[in-house]
Amino acid sequence: MKFKIGFSAEAEEDGYVTGQGGGAIPLDDLGQLGANSAVYDRGKAYYMENKVAYLSLDAGQGRAIVLGSRPYEVEFHYDEEAEEVSGLLCPCLCSYPCKHQVAALLQLQDILEHIWESNDYYFGGYFAAVSRDVFFSFALDARKDASITLG
Ligand SMILES: [Zn+2]
Repeated sequence: MKFKIGFSAEAEEDGYVTGQGGGAIPLDDLGQLGANSAVYDRGKAYYMENKVAYLSLDAGQGRAIVLGSRPYEVEFHYDEEAEEVSGLLCPCLCSYPCKHQVAALLQLQDILEHIWESNDYYFGGYFAAVSRDVFFSFALDARKDASITLG
């Protein structure tokens, strides 16, 4: 089962991308990202406030949309066997690592935990998840298009 959702963040106009030098980080030890506590706390707050609107993983290539002052698309690579993350990118103008990357990885931890617990969802190395808020806004948008006739 494979599905894609047509939803993406705008690209940053000047093409500037905040990226990581190279080393892989264990997903269960985000301290190794080297985020200072202010950045980590803001990222954690984003995650707690469900600002990670979308997250997908396709054969190790991850993508998340984090709603900050505007939507930011965070990219990363996840090695399922090693449980390590590498190649983190974010188009925001903050320095690496940024709060969007922290939020995306906390959300990834959370989703993978659910997947491991339930043994569902993860078909052929692919999953996509949207936050409850985004799901409901899609549902409401769809309802707007429906015609309701009052008798
Ligand atoms: Zn960022």
